[in-house]
Amino acid sequence: MASITCQKCGKLTDRAGYPAWVIVVAICLFPLGLLALLAGRKPTTCGSCGLTWQA
Ligand SMILES: [Zn+2]
Repeated sequence: MASITCQKCGKLTDRAGYPAWVIVVAICLFPLGLLALLAGRKPTTCGSCGLTWQA
């Protein structure tokens, strides 16, 4: 799990992964399915201040 820095409070936060459907689409529709990886990423939520953003 990759960690990124919160844009608001600067704390390290686990970067959100992909929903299961995005992985399935990416594999089944390869290489076009890779676009799903760009579109389907879940937003990252900071555990300290609650800020949610698209990382
Ligand atoms: Zn934060």
